[in-house]
Amino acid sequence: IPPFPLSMSDYDDFIGRVRELSLVGSLTGLMGWDQETMMPPKGGKLRSEMMAFLSKQSHSRITDPEMGKLLDSLESQNLTDEQAANVREVRRSYDKATKLPEELVEEKARHKSQALQVWQEARAENDFNKFQPYLEKTVELTCKTAEYYGYEDNIYDALLDIYEPGMTVSQLDPLFAGLREAIVPLVKAVGESPNQPDTSFLDIGKFTEEKQREFSLKVAGSIGFDFDAGRMDTSTHPFCSGAGPNDVRFTTRYDEEFPFGCLYGVMHETGHGTYEQGLLHEHEGTPMGQAVSLGIHESQSRMWENMVGRSREFWHYYIEEFKSCFNHLPSDLSVDTLHRAVNTVEPSLIRVESDEATYNLHIMVRYEIEKQLVNGNISVGDLPEFWNSKMEEYLGVTPPNDTKGVLQDIHWSMGAIGYFPTYTLGNLYAAQLYAAALADDPSIPDKIAKGQFTVLLDWMRSHIHVHGSKLLPADLMTQATGKEPSSDDFVKYLQSKYTKIYGL
Ligand code: ZN
Repeated sequence: IPPFPLSMSDYDDFIGRVRELSLVGSLTGLMGWDQETMMPPKGGKLRSEMMAFLSKQSHSRITDPEMGKLLDSLESQNLTDEQAANVREVRRSYDKATKLPEELVEEKARHKSQALQVWQEARAENDFNKFQPYLEKTVELTCKTAEYYGYEDNIYDALLDIYEPGMTVSQLDPLFAGLREAIVPLVKAVGESPNQPDTSFLDIGKFTEEKQREFSLKVAGSIGFDFDAGRMDTSTHPFCSGAGPNDVRFTTRYDEEFPFGCLYGVMHETGHGTYEQGLLHEHEGTPMGQAVSLGIHESQSRMWENMVGRSREFWHYYIEEFKSCFNHLPSDLSVDTLHRAVNTVEPSLIRVESDEATYNLHIMVRYEIEKQLVNGNISVGDLPEFWNSKMEEYLGVTPPNDTKGVLQDIHWSMGAIGYFPTYTLGNLYAAQLYAAALADDPSIPDKIAKGQFTVLLDWMRSHIHVHGSKLLPADLMTQATGKEPSSDDFVKYLQSKYTKIYGL
C-alpha cells in the first residue's frame, strides 16, 4: 500500500476528458454515416434529437470550467512535444467554444436553419433577392464571431483559422496570385487547342453499377485502404467519416452513363480514408491521433484522385481490368485515349462539376468575395454582378442566372465563410507532397505503372499521417517537403501535364 493516496496528474485527468470528448465525436460520426446510408426515412425525427443530444454533450464537455483550469495549469508545466500539441489543439477548441456569448451561439443556430431553407427556395426559384437579407445577416453574425475569436491582421484570418489552423490572408494571397497568373492563360490555351480529347467511347453502352463497384473496390484496395478497418457504401453525396482509424466509412454514387464520377470519387474518398487509417492508434482519441486540418485532409484525397488516378501510369496498369469489367468498350481503346479523356478541361459554371485545371479558379472567385465581404469592401447586394464578372474574367463563362452562379453552393447558407480556400490548399499541398515523394523516390511512377501503390502510401504515412496534429498544417508541409507551402509544384504539374495532352 503506497504511503499516500495516488493522485491523478493534471495531464492524465485532461487526457481522460479529451478521450471521452472524442468518443462523443465517434458516436456523432457513426450516427451521421448511418443517416446518409442506412437510416429509414421515418428515422429522421429521432435522429435529429440524437444528434442534438450528442452535440450538447460535446459542447458541455469542452466548455467545462474544469477543462479551462486544466489547460491553464498544463500550459505552465513542462510537457513533451506530443503533450504540448494535445494541449495546444484542445485550447483551440476550448477557446472557440467559450469565446462566443451564448446569445450569439443561439442566434447563429436559429439563423442557420432559416437561411438554409431560404437558400434552397431562392436557388430553386432563381431569386437572389429572396436570399439577400439572410446572407446579409450571415455576414453580420460571421463578423461578430470573428471579432470574438480575435485576429491580428485581417478579420478574415479569424475565419480561415477555424478550418485551417494558422492560415492567414497574407499567406493565402500570394498562393492565389501565383495560381491566377499561371492557370488563367493555361486554361485559355487548352480551350483554343485543336487537339481535344476523344470521349466517344463513353457513349456506346452502359457502365453497370455492379461493375463500377467491383472495379472501384479493387482500386481502393490496391491503394492500400484496409477493408477490415473500413467499408464503402452508397449515398447521394459522397463523403468519408466513421468512428476512428479502425472504423472508417466512405461512400460513393453511381452513374451508369459515366464511370469516372464513381471511380475518381472512390479514389478521392480512399485518400481521405487512408489518412484516417494511418493515424497512430496509440494516440487515438487525442489531437496527436487526429487529422490536422481540412487542407491537409484534402491533399490526401486529391493526390490519389488526380496525381495518381489521372496519370498515364495508372491507366497503363488498369486498362485491361477496366476493359474486362466493361466489355462493351472497343478492344482497341488505348491508354492514350483514356488518359486524355479523364483529363478533359472545360470551363464550366458549376464548381463541383469542374475539372482539375479550372477548379481553383472557382475557389478564387469565392475567396475574393468572402474576403471583401467581411472587410466591408463590397456588399451582399453586389454579389451577383461581382460573381458574374469574375467568372468571365477567370473562366471566360458568364452564368445565365444566379442559380448557376452565386446561389450554387450550400456553404454560405450554413455560415461556412472561410471554408472554400481549404479546397485549393488541398490541391496545392497534394502537388507539393507528390513532388517531394518523387524527389525522394523517382521510381514511384514506374511502380504505379506496375500497380505498386504502397511506396507512395508509405511515404504519406511517414511524412503526414503519423504526425496527427503535432504541427500546424503549414509547418507540417514545410517539414514534409523541405519548403513552405507554395503554388509552384501545382502550377508545374498542370503545365507539364496539359502541355503534353493538348500539344500546347
Ligand atoms: Zn474531399
